[in-house]
Amino acid sequence: MRLSFTRVGDSPIAVMARNGGVSLEGFIVRKEGLVLLNGAIKGGLRLTCDRCANEYEHRLNESVELLISDGIFEPRKDEEQSLAVVEVSDGAIDIEAILESEIQSIVCDYHRCEKCGAI
Ligand SMILES: [Zn+2]
Repeated sequence: MRLSFTRVGDSPIAVMARNGGVSLEGFIVRKEGLVLLNGAIKGGLRLTCDRCANEYEHRLNESVELLISDGIFEPRKDEEQSLAVVEVSDGAIDIEAILESEIQSIVCDYHRCEKCGAI
């Protein structure tokens, strides 16, 4: 699912992407020259425990809130602005690519299976 950055207005647009057993559902809306993505990542991800090296199914149910920038309008850099910013280069918001990078950051995190004490 790809959406034109400039077409996102003040009324929220429902977005959805799927990657294997993981899905991202939410909406995007214009916010101060940027686009706010608000949604949730749900599903199951195969992860390898960093302690015992066993593969296990990690259940996901995480809320996602991030800002999308087209690189023209810079996000404010103050204390209120603590959301992660994703920059799109070609003026198109690629929901699949956002989900993919969210999954990658979860995979790269340190994690343990339930036996080793999930953190
Ligand atoms: Zn383990």
